Amino acid sequence: MMKMLSDAGLEAVIGLEIHAQMLTETKIFCGCSTAFGAEPNTQTCPVCIGMPGVLPVLNRRVVEFAVKTGLAMNCRITPYSRFARKNYFYPDLPKGYQISQYELPICEKGHLDIHINGESRRIGITRIHMEEDAGKNIHQKDGSYVDLNRTGVPLLEIVTEPDIRTPQEAALFMKKLRAILRYLGVCDGNMEQGSLRCDANVSLRPAGSTGLGTKTEIKNINSFRFVEKALEYEIKRQVKVLRDGGDIIQETRLWDSETGTTNSMRSKEEAHDYRYFPEPDLVPLQIEEDWIKQIRETLPELPDQKMKRYQEEFGLPEYDCEILTEERPVAEWFERAVKAGGSPKAVSNWMMTDILRLMNETGTEITELRITPEMLASLIGLIEKGTISGKIAKMVFNDMYTTGKDPETIVQEKGLVQISDAGELEGTIQEILDAHPDEVGRLKAGDKKLIGFFVGQVMKATKGKANPKMVNEIIRKKIS
Ligand code: ADP
Ligand code: MG
Ligand code: ZN
Repeated sequence: MMKMLSDAGLEAVIGLEIHAQMLTETKIFCGCSTAFGAEPNTQTCPVCIGMPGVLPVLNRRVVEFAVKTGLAMNCRITPYSRFARKNYFYPDLPKGYQISQYELPICEKGHLDIHINGESRRIGITRIHMEEDAGKNIHQKDGSYVDLNRTGVPLLEIVTEPDIRTPQEAALFMKKLRAILRYLGVCDGNMEQGSLRCDANVSLRPAGSTGLGTKTEIKNINSFRFVEKALEYEIKRQVKVLRDGGDIIQETRLWDSETGTTNSMRSKEEAHDYRYFPEPDLVPLQIEEDWIKQIRETLPELPDQKMKRYQEEFGLPEYDCEILTEERPVAEWFERAVKAGGSPKAVSNWMMTDILRLMNETGTEITELRITPEMLASLIGLIEKGTISGKIAKMVFNDMYTTGKDPETIVQEKGLVQISDAGELEGTIQEILDAHPDEVGRLKAGDKKLIGFFVGQVMKATKGKANPKMVNEIIRKKIS
């Protein structure tokens, strides 16, 4: 992709508009539940179905979540913001307007850093604002229906600067953003279910220039992979249009994951005129410094901070840190195992291979595993003390997973303690040497590979329990 762009002397300019459903219990302007999956139209009231004469009341939690998100994304929290009406007609919008924020959003001028090829890239965040979601149209064979349960569910809209340069960066930004929202508990980040949605804006310009070309906006992207795929397709399409001497038309396009293409939905001429105006039913929002300070104190340690700390405190490679800090429960599990005495690199290795594999294979959350961080720490201790070999440890690990027993108990019950008694090992080794005179001859003649053969034979004879280091030493001694 990059090669193709530079061939054409063009670079891509990308900006994202992201909607995140907030995890509040009730809606933004009424007391209705936001729970997902209820019978259609059972979570509604006169406010959220847009009856005349009712008044919206702002949910304090929504403001708290918006401020929290703004702080975590390095934004300025505006001391004075205001809601606005965005007017348009659609059957899932009973009031005929959506309450949103427009010229005075609650957060502005933030940024997030993404890490790519060992480098850090800063992506500006233009603004974050609060708004209400619309309902849902359901089209069936016997007709079309409207479900208003989602009407009034609080959303955050997060808008980036056009600072993103490649589809891969766009996907990394989405991942980083999702990780932070999940750390904060502000949004569950489920793109398939639509609680995190992304519209991608993209244009091309001569590489190295600073102006902005005409952009298109891609809607309907519902996975990280599709963010990348949709942008790749759209960039290719624009390159071709420009190469053929055409112009890019400013338009909204829909991503079709079946065909892997974007297709025109509406052009600038057909664009809505939303006739924004200040919402007369809600007073402007004034947020006191004190409250912002209180909210700042509730911020958890975020993925980037954790990553930095893991590198400095535990000397772990960036790759490990990135994986370990992606999800808060995984990071906390890691920290508990280290606290219980597991050496950080060993804990990290077990987690990145066996623990994450188990989680993926079984679709289990880390907190639901029968293996606790303390159990993993003990297992690592048993290997380090030489009580069991690394190979046996894998067996014990599987037993821990299925039985939930701690590693000491498993090692005791199954008699898995490593044989480190020189006398006992010597007997076994001698028998094996005696049984393989040819191989002994070749080893003595200098074929060092045969050491491995003999170690293997001893391990087989002892069912993996022999201390491999000692076996090695004894064989060498006997041969020389
Ligand atoms: P609109 O009014 O069409 O919604 P905005 O100026 O609000 O446009 O920007 C929407 C998003 O598009 C932002 O993320 C912004 O960074 C991005 N954007 C704006 N202009 C361009 C451009 N020429 N090329 C790529 N992205 C752009
Ligand atoms: Mg816009
Ligand atoms: Zn309601």
